[in-house]
Amino acid sequence: MRVFAIAEHRFGELNSISFELLHLANSIKGSGTSEAVIIGRDVAGFARELVRHADKVWVISDESLENYNPDLYIDVLLQLFRIETPDIVLIGHTSQGCELAPYLAVKLGGSVATDVVGVNVSNDAVTVSRYIFQGKLMVDLKITKLPCVLTIRQGVFKEGPEVNGEVINTDIKPSRSPARSFVKFIKPEVGEVDISQADVIVAVGRGIGDASNIKLAEELAQILGGVVAGSRPVIDSGWLPKDRQVGISGKTVKPKLYLALGISGAFQHVIGMKDSDLIIAVNKDPEAPIFGVAHYGIASDLFEIVPLLIKKLKEIRG
Ligand SMILES: Cc1cc2nc3c(=O)[nH]c(=O)nc-3n(C[C@H](O)[C@H](O)[C@H](O)COP(=O)(O)OP(=O)(O)OC[C@H]3O[C@@H](n4cnc5c(N)ncnc54)[C@H](O)[C@@H]3O)c2cc1C
Repeated sequence: MRVFAIAEHRFGELNSISFELLHLANSIKGSGTSEAVIIGRDVAGFARELVRHADKVWVISDESLENYNPDLYIDVLLQLFRIETPDIVLIGHTSQGCELAPYLAVKLGGSVATDVVGVNVSNDAVTVSRYIFQGKLMVDLKITKLPCVLTIRQGVFKEGPEVNGEVINTDIKPSRSPARSFVKFIKPEVGEVDISQADVIVAVGRGIGDASNIKLAEELAQILGGVVAGSRPVIDSGWLPKDRQVGISGKTVKPKLYLALGISGAFQHVIGMKDSDLIIAVNKDPEAPIFGVAHYGIASDLFEIVPLLIKKLKEIRG
């Protein structure tokens, strides 16, 4: 299989989803190749980073490609794929990826699946897993029409081997003027924290009681060098912003430490954090399902445990 990953970048930084796509590409390519495509202006530095995880990196560089533009991206991608034929194209399930993927799939005469969390390739058949009905069910879709374009959920394929391939500079340029042009980027007001990239997460559930108690979790997170996230009721109550929600209708996280405070462990939540390296749960109900996924559990009141933990950590750190 030739598996292509479309890298994503903004403001001089590669989005980490680019590497996650390549980890997935390497795990499904079989005897084929993992190939990144980087589009932009002056992107040689990005190509050097990507090539550590790809057999090939195709560089498409032009002044007009400085900012993301779907018309120009599709134009140059189709020029590349007319010569270098993909079997699978992986794109991040980001706002950019969600715009590009169906457009690209139609132009390639292939198929598309979005928000994919698992891909399996055997005997040249591609099966993908995704949630449906707002996460109530997971389905496996057998894709019969290649090439297929898949948007991949961020945070699911965080690890993968180094590959060290080759960088190929193409002379591909946009062949026509875009129907739309880039005006300006407006930064969202919230969203300064990306929980899917955090190493330490202190997650709070309804057991935290109310918004005024969030500061307790924030103090603990600060000492541990982590960030605060929440279960859906916490987000729905407006105690934390939406981009801090962990779970099926929130984000998938895989930190080194996931501290669950007052979270029952409903499957919609657990799906988003079960692959964390170390899960510690505090819940006053010893029967709470969260203890089924936690590596260590404390069946106690979080308002007793957390202040003790903060005190002890402060002592240790001097
Ligand atoms: C379509 C759909 C999508 C959903 N998506 C998500 C999602 O993405 N993320 C998500 O989280 N949920 C999601 N949910 C909701 C999910 O089903 C649960 O309702 C939710 O996860 C429960 O959140 P919670 O554990 O914070 O609250 P609860 O289930 O109410 O649990 C609170 C826990 O706190 C404990 N507790 C209370 N006081 C204390 C205390 N002082 N000390 C210690 N423990 C205490 C209690 O024993 C209890 O176990 C979704 C539901 C649906 C239907």
